[in-house]
Amino acid sequence: MPRFATRFAPSPTGRLHKGHAFSALTAWSAAQAQGGRFVLRIEDIDPTRCRPEFDAGILEDLAWLGLDWETPVRRQSEHLADYAAAVAALDAGGLLYRCFRTRKEILDSIGDAPHGAAEAVRPGPHPSDEEARLLAEGRPFAWRLSLDRAREALGDATWRDLAFREEGEGPGGEHSLIRARPETAGDVVVARKDAGTAYHVAVTHDDRLQGISHVIRGQDLFEATHIQVLIQALMSWETPTYRHHALLAGPDGRRFAKRDQSVTLKELREGGLTAAALRAELGF
Ligand code: GLU
Repeated sequence: MPRFATRFAPSPTGRLHKGHAFSALTAWSAAQAQGGRFVLRIEDIDPTRCRPEFDAGILEDLAWLGLDWETPVRRQSEHLADYAAAVAALDAGGLLYRCFRTRKEILDSIGDAPHGAAEAVRPGPHPSDEEARLLAEGRPFAWRLSLDRAREALGDATWRDLAFREEGEGPGGEHSLIRARPETAGDVVVARKDAGTAYHVAVTHDDRLQGISHVIRGQDLFEATHIQVLIQALMSWETPTYRHHALLAGPDGRRFAKRDQSVTLKELREGGLTAAALRAELGF
């Protein structure tokens, strides 16, 4: 059995709130209980939303909470060549196509299409003359993973057997062995126009590189698992075990989220909350 290893992988797009504290404590405690490894990974590939002060804030808040982690901390922005190589490998397998449309253009174009939302995220390749023209014009494009080509590459039997072990629970109570349904995600972007990579590739690459045996994270990422399992199969990377946990709800019953401007750990600390009190409140 490989050694138990898990991770907390925040994106530095804001200060951490109680929901993050809960998630980080869940992963860290699991590693402690198993005598395993705990990895902190900074997922900062989005140059438009990530900021160094939030990166520093993550380390400050987690240390205050009493967590420790392996060093050096991996920052994805420092390893873009690794992800580009993974994207190139998928491309070499004929699995990708260039997409010059913006998300808004895709959604607008299918506004009154008969198949509705299912097609929203499967725009398909451009006709080759159009693609050649857009390339010649120097227009920026993203790489999308073609579900059709992926299925062809894996073969129907392997496609049908794509699965992951869930030791926690999905939002619908899903657990134990779950059949992956990558088709629900559509043809996901595996390389953004601005970053040359995208979340699904970077996260699966690093989970493998860092020897993560258990991905412990919130249920908001449960759906993402389906596409990540497909990428692991295409890259011949082993699929780790997953433990999705329910999202912490605030006093109003709504989940904590950065966009709701939930009160941050920094504000709580400055208001006099101690780490011990917060850990007790969160059940640790
Ligand atoms: N970086 C992702 C986020 O902040 C989490 C990635 C993961 O846990 O798989 O939502």
